[in-house]
Amino acid sequence: MILRLAAATAALALLAAPALAAPNEGAKLDVIAQDFVRLTLEAGEREPGYVDAYYGPAEWAAAAKAKPREVPALRAEADRLAAALKAVDGKALSPDEVRRKAFLAGQVKAAQTRLAMLAGQKFSFQDEAEGLFGVRPPLKPLSAYDPILAKIDKLVPGEGDLATRVSAFQARYTIPTDRLEPVMKAAIAECKARTEAHIALPKGERFDLSFVTKKPWSGYNWYKGDAHSLIEVNTDLPTPISRAVDLGCHEGYPGHHVLNALLEEKLTKGKGWVEFSVYPLFSPQSLIAEGSANYGIKLAFPGEEKLNFERKTLYPLAGLDPATAQTYDAVTGAMADLASVQNTIADLYLSGKLDKEAAVAALAKYALSSRAKAEKSLSFIEAYRSYVINYNLGQDMVRAHVERAGPSQDARWTRMEAVISQPTTPADLAK
Ligand SMILES: [Zn+2]
Repeated sequence: MILRLAAATAALALLAAPALAAPNEGAKLDVIAQDFVRLTLEAGEREPGYVDAYYGPAEWAAAAKAKPREVPALRAEADRLAAALKAVDGKALSPDEVRRKAFLAGQVKAAQTRLAMLAGQKFSFQDEAEGLFGVRPPLKPLSAYDPILAKIDKLVPGEGDLATRVSAFQARYTIPTDRLEPVMKAAIAECKARTEAHIALPKGERFDLSFVTKKPWSGYNWYKGDAHSLIEVNTDLPTPISRAVDLGCHEGYPGHHVLNALLEEKLTKGKGWVEFSVYPLFSPQSLIAEGSANYGIKLAFPGEEKLNFERKTLYPLAGLDPATAQTYDAVTGAMADLASVQNTIADLYLSGKLDKEAAVAALAKYALSSRAKAEKSLSFIEAYRSYVINYNLGQDMVRAHVERAGPSQDARWTRMEAVISQPTTPADLAK
């Protein structure tokens, strides 16, 4: 009996051997992923802000805090993980695991780049962006944006320079401070309803909203795990009415909150892929996150729908005149074509070709902003450097990928859900 059983087991093992080859290569990814999380957490101890979110095992964070390796050791570890990933046989992986491996490779390359920067290595703007975010941004000269300024000039007639005129025009559309909370809440609720009509949100997902000051950004989603986000809105500068829906979609639905909650549900918990429990800010994941968050606005409010919702619901809530909504929408729409000028100005400033004063002047002129807003944009560039490409280039890449699904809204939402719930790399967006 015992003998027969043993023989049967041996036969089974022989039969199962070829099928087991795949899980073995897949299991290597599990080990690499765990080491990657540890590396990321320790790098986070060496650079504040390196880790944007973490909700994995608390003891890993405690261990990283207690004994973080020095930057040279972390660089060596990142190199080791890159080599280990390369050695994983892609032919023995399932299609899911192939994507997992590609995602991890991008994240590890970003760690190598960021740690090199921490060690004092200097990169050109394009090399830095490519190393961190997995895509080389094209840079247009400032003069390429002049025809767009000329177009906007016709929309906002009057005396004086265009940036001052546009700022004065926009100031008329500021949400009064005491109306900010109800307007933001109404906008987020609408973004959520439109997202929920297409994507099943994780059970119990929720967010807290708070208003803050003295930050280089205008809004931030802090993902806490368990489908919970803290959304912060910065009130240092006046918030124009169009920002309510933008922020609601970008930080909330179908933007950062939904992306993080879906990745947690489907990958971290669903598949046990621990690398998704940590989010290194300077990584290709940010190109996917910022790009999908920005494109999510247009997806949730196609055509005239944003204007119609703002006119009907948000303008009255903010005490603004709905009859003027169309003109304002036309100006903000035309300004969208200026988004990528941030990359050019960041490159010129970070490489020393523009000094601080000239960079602020260029931001005011080409982003059509007040001096205060231009200074805020420059402080963002100083803090986050080539990260600026994620908003505009990321958006263009997500848009092109999603809209390749054709004109059907349902098909577009299906593609969007795949982008924000699977391991997606910038290269995947080219498909
Ligand atoms: Zn964002």
